[in-house]
Amino acid sequence: GPKPFTLMIRGRIPGGRLSPESWRVWDDLASAYSSGGIRLTTRQSIQLHGVLKSQVEDSIKKIHQSLQTTTGACGDVVRNVTQAVNPWGDPKLAQLDHVAELISQHFEVRSQAYFDIFLDGESVRVDEQETIYGDRYLPRKFKIAVSAEGDNSVDIYTHDFAIVATFNDGGVIDGYHIFAGGGMGTSHNNEATFPRLADHLGWIPKKELIPISEAIVTTQRDFGNREDRSQARLKYTIAHRGVDWFRHEVSSRAGVDFEDRPLAPWKTRSPLGWFDQANGKKALGLHLLSGRIIDQPNRKLKSALRQIIDHYVTQVQITAEQDLILEGIDPEKQIEVETILDQNGISPFSPNRIFDRAVTCVALPTCVKALAESERVGEATFSSIQELFDKHRQGRRAPTVRITGCPNGCARPYAAEIGLVGQLPGKYALFLGGSQEGTRLAKKIGDKLKLDDIYRYLDFAFSQWSKQGEPTEDFGDFVDRVGLANLKPIEEGLE
Ligand code: SF4
Repeated sequence: GPKPFTLMIRGRIPGGRLSPESWRVWDDLASAYSSGGIRLTTRQSIQLHGVLKSQVEDSIKKIHQSLQTTTGACGDVVRNVTQAVNPWGDPKLAQLDHVAELISQHFEVRSQAYFDIFLDGESVRVDEQETIYGDRYLPRKFKIAVSAEGDNSVDIYTHDFAIVATFNDGGVIDGYHIFAGGGMGTSHNNEATFPRLADHLGWIPKKELIPISEAIVTTQRDFGNREDRSQARLKYTIAHRGVDWFRHEVSSRAGVDFEDRPLAPWKTRSPLGWFDQANGKKALGLHLLSGRIIDQPNRKLKSALRQIIDHYVTQVQITAEQDLILEGIDPEKQIEVETILDQNGISPFSPNRIFDRAVTCVALPTCVKALAESERVGEATFSSIQELFDKHRQGRRAPTVRITGCPNGCARPYAAEIGLVGQLPGKYALFLGGSQEGTRLAKKIGDKLKLDDIYRYLDFAFSQWSKQGEPTEDFGDFVDRVGLANLKPIEEGLE
């Protein structure tokens, strides 16, 4: 018979925060319907792959019902806003929960659809009202991030619009730095498309957040390109008209001047490992390769997480690097949690490995846009890069490595220290020179490279870093300082 259609279901989970009850629903659905377990996304959401079309309505109904029975979650019928993670239970960062919800609700979709549903990569069920929202408001998707000064755990520069809180001496939010115009997506063989980092527009007092947010969204609504989808993101509007024009337009619409305040340096803390939370509980950040949560014969990750979340956890948070934070664990139960992980073949966190910050997109076989493998080559590729890094590291930090199956860039490869972007089966463009904090775009060092060629090149580049780099200099900073031209020998035998 004909191949049954399968779909992908993606949840709207603002800030990636989920109650144990919500986790159970996703976990049960994944067990019942999904061929690929649970997959955490680079936007702090959950996707189920391989759901049969005939099962979808049932799945949606179950998620919908369960969300409506949990506290307040039914109000979050909004576009997914990403938010800085908070394994520390830091009261400053906790104020972002409210900001993310406020922004989510303000730009809430009027429909009751919780999910983006994709059939072979194309959206198949767009709620009627959501289409109206799209027509009335924006030419394309709009990605919003909320963070706090110094914390870039959500890659704010890759968002259309980012809100970065500042605090008064009492630790209460007093205003926001506003960023706009970031985005990773490019189209293959379309020179008019490019990755772009968001611009810092300036600082605004706390009370001006909604007027400014509205002005940003309506400026894009009115000036965004509606003729050419490849040019429809805010980054192109700003790139073509200029950031000064944009700042002025937003400012006059809102009746608010941006203040020229300096930005504190980014010092993003790793959310991986065990942490003491402000409320006396413990949190555990677990790195999950490609965010894939599945049971394998010798590594029962899905079951182990379910057991822990069922009995020890008060909230989970998905990170923008596809990792999972388990919060609210009683300190006396830490050993029990570790034992469950150990019994299920899940090794504890070991810091400063390539794997800690490695990200892949889904790519083959699930995403129709994929031109090359990503998730399925992730483990082998990161292992190879790990070996090279170990050979040359000299005590330095592991670089960020991100792989995608196509130039759309879902795993944000252009903001990594090392980015691989699929172009053809088995072949990738190599980008180097982004920063640990995601503040600089990587530059392309070569096209259509085989993975073995990339390893040879990284061996060379790491050895230069080892010999010439400052003692604590990160790889991306080194590449940026010496320049790609001085890291050359990629010609031989390569395209
Ligand atoms: Fe698909 Fe390309 Fe996104 Fe990967 S980067 S998930 S291949 S669209």
